[in-house]
Amino acid sequence: MAKGTVKFEIETCKGCELCLEACPQESIALSSKLNKQGYHYAVLVKDNCTGCVNCALVCPDAVITVYREKKKGKPTAEKKLSFGVIPNADDESVIKELAKMKAITPAGAASQFGIRIGLAKQFLEELARRQVVKLVAESSRLKIYSLVKPQSG
Ligand code: SF4
Ligand code: SF4
Repeated sequence: MAKGTVKFEIETCKGCELCLEACPQESIALSSKLNKQGYHYAVLVKDNCTGCVNCALVCPDAVITVYREKKKGKPTAEKKLSFGVIPNADDESVIKELAKMKAITPAGAASQFGIRIGLAKQFLEELARRQVVKLVAESSRLKIYSLVKPQSG
């Protein structure tokens, strides 16, 4: 199994626990200590991380960077994975991808475009400002959007 590790920007963590829930290895826990913002921050508590990146994708505050070993036995060969590129809202193929989604949500957009959920939220808000999508339902945890103009193919 691939070997990975994660680093947390502990001062920006809000202790929301989304990464704990997302980790299939149960590698993450909240520290008993508080950061400067007064939150119990996320820490790695087991040496079994596979570098699957789930935690970094769900973190709303871009706290987590995942490193993956390229090959076993090469101690310094680690790679920083980048999930920081917001899709170009002017690109028609981006709109076509959105049109394929049953419900346009931040989590869905994060998975569709391989970006962090925090960036997906910003991306959808930008599209709503441009009136490419509109907000159709909102709760305290979830926003659902739909395309303003249906795609013709
Ligand atoms: S990369 Fe995957 S296995 Fe490693 S801490 Fe994050 S969610 Fe867990
Ligand atoms: S998802 Fe991000 S903000 Fe939430 S506990 Fe994990 S590292 Fe902290």
